[in-house]
Amino acid sequence: MTVHVVGHSNPDTDSVTSAISFAALLQAQGQDAQPCMQCGADGLNPETKVVLERFGLPTPAEISDAAGKQLALVDFSDLAQGPANLGEAEVVAVVDHHKIGDVTTNSPILFRAEPVGCTGTVLNKMYKEAGVAIPQNVAGGMLAAILSDTVNFKSPTCTAEDKAAVADLKGVAGVTDTDELFMDMLKAKSAVAGVPAKDLLFRDYKDFDMKGNKVGIGQLELATIDQVADVRADLIAAMEAVKAEGRHSVLLMLTDVVKEGTDLVVLSDDPALIEGAFSGKLENSSMWIDGMMSRKKQTVPNLQNAFGC
Ligand code: MG
Ligand code: MG
Ligand code: MG
Repeated sequence: MTVHVVGHSNPDTDSVTSAISFAALLQAQGQDAQPCMQCGADGLNPETKVVLERFGLPTPAEISDAAGKQLALVDFSDLAQGPANLGEAEVVAVVDHHKIGDVTTNSPILFRAEPVGCTGTVLNKMYKEAGVAIPQNVAGGMLAAILSDTVNFKSPTCTAEDKAAVADLKGVAGVTDTDELFMDMLKAKSAVAGVPAKDLLFRDYKDFDMKGNKVGIGQLELATIDQVADVRADLIAAMEAVKAEGRHSVLLMLTDVVKEGTDLVVLSDDPALIEGAFSGKLENSSMWIDGMMSRKKQTVPNLQNAFGC
């Protein structure tokens, strides 16, 4: 019976490349295994598309119904993140780096979960332990997944083991410059061409109540601020329209993931209050805030202090 290896729904790069990688390991060990994915109608995300093309990896088959199948799960173990009727499938293995989910089995299985930054890191160890050489293109996918999941080592989830795995895998994959690979992926992920300014503003946007004042904050994670240079005026026009709906302030965080800071665009009834919140000075409605990456941990608390919440 074929083992269908599948990552979580709405898959990221790790879910897709880990399905490919674990299926290849099972095959090398004499099992009949096939990589799958659950993208649905949305298809692969732009980042993963770039990765598969770059390393010449075939796109895994779509799996929609798990009933009666043998499944190996990668990058998740929650029923809710699996294909339909996962409860009627036989789960034969799990390889993951998240909290343990609610999948149960009737027989003992291979269950491998480690608190590292990426499933690709766990799989790299499993190949070593099995004494199986990782195919060059598969190593490329695993490498890309680790860079993506750890945000090029900048995420607090990144461990020394993830860095060690990258050092291993770049040699196998023939990648000399992992920063360049990461940038290539980030550019695909953050592409803005052809997207209406209002959609960009609302791509990752939340409204907050600050002492009775409505404050909207959007964020775009970018490889470089230059990516939005051509649409900057349109973005500000979109912000003006949203502010006119009755908001005290509308902020847009243009976050440069590489420079690790944010160009904060501000439209406000009280610009001096926002300047004070971040000890900055607005010029042409924006100011650069070094080290600002997180709306939740940095932007919102500073604003709440300034508004006296
Ligand atoms: Mg994932
Ligand atoms: Mg992952
Ligand atoms: Mg991820």
